[in-house]
Amino acid sequence: MNTAAEIKPELAAKIERLNALLDSIAARHDKVKLASSLAAEDMLLTHAILSRQVKIGIFSLNTGRLHAETLGMLDRVRERYGYEIEQFHPQAAAVDEYVGSHGANAFYESVDLRKRCCEIRKVEPLNRALSDVSAWVTGQRREQSVTRAELHEEEQDAARNIAKFNPLTDWTEADVWAYLTAFDVPVNPLHARGYPSIGCEPCTRAIRPGEDSRAGRWWWESRDTKECGLHITTIPLAVVGENASA
Ligand code: SF4
Repeated sequence: MNTAAEIKPELAAKIERLNALLDSIAARHDKVKLASSLAAEDMLLTHAILSRQVKIGIFSLNTGRLHAETLGMLDRVRERYGYEIEQFHPQAAAVDEYVGSHGANAFYESVDLRKRCCEIRKVEPLNRALSDVSAWVTGQRREQSVTRAELHEEEQDAARNIAKFNPLTDWTEADVWAYLTAFDVPVNPLHARGYPSIGCEPCTRAIRPGEDSRAGRWWWESRDTKECGLHITTIPLAVVGENASA
């Protein structure tokens, strides 16, 4: 493990700003949760929250199609921090209906069937997870893909009418890994096997050199459809302010 003295000044400044933002979010919201995919960015935020005992809860969407390595991260977090990440599962009846009507892997057949699977296994459980909070936190970064180029640090989740924070908006992949290494944060072993972005097992592949970090997600689809519906209803706070005063 590196020491704090080995962290470059630019990264130290980002860490200081991150910690201040997390403290500010917790101070402004009585109930706020991090949605963790158990991948690198979310493990960074998990460390920043739990090592400093910031009052932000952490949950994960257990879709029923995750890699064993990803599920293993729940144990790693429990061992390292003594914290039980809350898990939200899909409704069994909805999964049974989808699988019975279309087949277990129908998401390969069309964008509509893929989005319906994500709706059942991710979006509905996410809505349940966020039903009792006034804000949520994500590990999204702007450079991850074209679909995230307009990401803002603070947004309004218009569909749920709650605040949404993306504290790593301006972090680079190198920043993330420098932090994880410096603080010896547990990471999903799939990252070392070419998976910078990790979702469900049948919908994620390792990337090739030169591909963007989300190229392995729903790799059979075009770049502009590659979101699962978890992050499509947000408005930058500046725009919310303009609308409110119009
Ligand atoms: S990522 Fe794939 S398996 Fe997971 S919910 Fe979406 S379509 Fe279904």
